[in-house]
Amino acid sequence: MARRTTGPAPALAAVGDTPLTALAGCGPKVAEKLAARGMTCLQDLWLQLPRQYEDRTRLTPIRALQPGVAAQVEGRVEAVERGFRYRPMLRVAIGDGSQATLVLRFFHFRAAQVAQFQPGARVRCYGTPRPGLHGLEIVHPSYQVLGAAAGDELGDALDPVYPAVEGIGPVSLRRLIGLALDRLPDDESLELLPDALREPLRLPSLRKALLTVHRPPRDADVAALLAGTHPAQRRLALEELLAHHLSLRRQRMAQQAHAAPVLADTGLAARLRDDLPFRLTGAQQRVFDEILLDLARPSPMLRLVQGDVGSGKTVVAAMAAMVAVAGGKQAALMAPTELLAEQHLANLRGWLEPLGIPIAWLAGKVTGKARAQVLAQVASGEAPMVVGTHALMQEGVVFHDLALAIIDEQHRFGVHQRLALRDKGVGGGDGPGAIVPHQLVMTATPIPRTLAMSAYADLDVSSIDELPPGRTPVQTVALSSERRPELVERIRVACAQGRQAYWICTLIDEPEEGDKPGAAMNGASMKIEAQAAQTTFEALSAQLPELGIGLVHGRMKPAEKQATMAAFKAGRIDLLVATTVIEVGVDVANASLMIIENAERLGLAQLHQLRGRVGRGSAESSCVLLYRSPLSMLARQRLETMRETSDGFVIAEKDLELRGPGELLGTRQTGLAEFRLADLVRDADLLPQVHALAEQLLVDAPDTADRIVARWVGSAVRYAGA
Ligand code: ADP
Ligand code: MG
Repeated sequence: MARRTTGPAPALAAVGDTPLTALAGCGPKVAEKLAARGMTCLQDLWLQLPRQYEDRTRLTPIRALQPGVAAQVEGRVEAVERGFRYRPMLRVAIGDGSQATLVLRFFHFRAAQVAQFQPGARVRCYGTPRPGLHGLEIVHPSYQVLGAAAGDELGDALDPVYPAVEGIGPVSLRRLIGLALDRLPDDESLELLPDALREPLRLPSLRKALLTVHRPPRDADVAALLAGTHPAQRRLALEELLAHHLSLRRQRMAQQAHAAPVLADTGLAARLRDDLPFRLTGAQQRVFDEILLDLARPSPMLRLVQGDVGSGKTVVAAMAAMVAVAGGKQAALMAPTELLAEQHLANLRGWLEPLGIPIAWLAGKVTGKARAQVLAQVASGEAPMVVGTHALMQEGVVFHDLALAIIDEQHRFGVHQRLALRDKGVGGGDGPGAIVPHQLVMTATPIPRTLAMSAYADLDVSSIDELPPGRTPVQTVALSSERRPELVERIRVACAQGRQAYWICTLIDEPEEGDKPGAAMNGASMKIEAQAAQTTFEALSAQLPELGIGLVHGRMKPAEKQATMAAFKAGRIDLLVATTVIEVGVDVANASLMIIENAERLGLAQLHQLRGRVGRGSAESSCVLLYRSPLSMLARQRLETMRETSDGFVIAEKDLELRGPGELLGTRQTGLAEFRLADLVRDADLLPQVHALAEQLLVDAPDTADRIVARWVGSAVRYAGA
């Protein structure tokens, strides 16, 4: 997307377009590094807003430190310990006479650093303390060893902390931003929000707001700035939220400008419904009706169906697919893991084959002749319904007439992937004359309403807000891992009664890695997790010789995984030891007991997903959250939330409160660039204004709307050239 192409820009506004190489000290190399982060002109640096501030204007006594709250501390070195646990480590204990000790912990350090920390040396440091083995500790604080004499003035204003840019040190980055700010033009040429819209909100001008957040004046409201609620920050957050909202609205408008097949229900969906062994819930029927209305329009449906785990989204999707198939067209269902896709395949076969509808299967492991055959069936239209994984989006996959693309557990996919399946419509992509399939995306991660309106401004949202009848709520308890032996007995009893159980092994982080639930898994952590599961599997097999025990983890061959899952589903395995690979979708109604090890390491959304694997039948189910002490405050709150509620929406709200929307939604899910400054929870009260402003701008000043999007979202919406 070209930058600021619309409207005659006032001459001075062009200052913002000045390339960064115009700044002293910004040679081609530095410019390249900045460009890699999407920063090419002055305006990009103006909007490179501080993520937070460091308050070095005062010292906090060690005794008054709070876990998780950054602070500046000064003290004398009391003890130094060099050790080696998993890797080299340096621990420096400092005291400040406040009857408490703080440990500074380093994993990377040079000999010269060790030499600095002589007992008695005066150290000033800044960082975020966390509970450690012996009281609070700060890992890799920024620090300074002070001279023997007194002195060393405290700072007199907050220090902005900018998001790191690879290859440019924080000092250079700050200098460059400072130089860019020196060229900030006057209000008139900078401001994009029409006065009539801005004035009633009583927020400062853009220029004033930018200067305040980058260079907090001495007398600024420190507490407000630290909390992100200063009027200057609110002003910027408003404009940023507006830009993102406008950009999603634009994407949606662009999408809907395409043609889509008009589909009418010919009764096939009703036949499927009538053949089901259960009755649809009211919520399922309502959501299906909403989908039907969308499908009957000549523009593509863009609908998100959110429904708690077990609410029965799959059958609604299958009914939607029947509408496409009845119209002589194709439907595709894509799931994020092979395990889940296989399960959909089995379910759909059970439902659709009696209706005479064959289902094609496409996953990474389908290769050679089999693959060629499936591709041919998909291309000829012989296969009306295709189920699979990411493999569905690959280049060689050509549909004859794809009318409906269904994406399950969409939070596991990126927006780009969603669009890739869309591009499988007739005529391919979004070129002229292309027919775009209707899109149905499903998620079990409920999104609080305010957030949904912002994160999914490009989608309509339907909620299956009712569980099928006859489910008994899962009893959840949290137990210290010392009580593990009791659980072995509990499994023995449950399985003797013909029930089945899951034992979930999670990654055990090294404690110093910080408290980051739900962090993305890389190959190494998957390996550690697999090892933990292997060990647990062996131990439980020894302790429970009379049971059939299976093992599933991410490093097994798909065929092995599937065989084990099938055996578990068929009841040939009593106890399934698994890693979090079974988090999504797995459905075995007879399983009524789940044990989650190291539950304190997992985020709420993940715990909720896992727990959703039990309580699917009529048997009384329970979930045991095993944790290792000591619990951080956040972990304690998460476990408490899990004990108190099984309502996915309540859990999502709580998750949002504890983690913030960035982690809840993730950039992958929203397809948004990370916000520079806005925070959907903190700034939630701005959202109604944002929506109203967007509405007005789109009608009255579409050019301005474009410029606001370009300014804040810029290249990040390239994919949205949709
Ligand atoms: P999710 O919304 O988590 O994807 P599923 O679609 O996997 O849920 O459904 C969970 C289970 O509930 C499946 O076994 C499904 O067949 C069953 N189910 C779906 N709808 C109903 C219903 N209305 N009554 C009873 N069982 C249902
Ligand atoms: Mg599902």
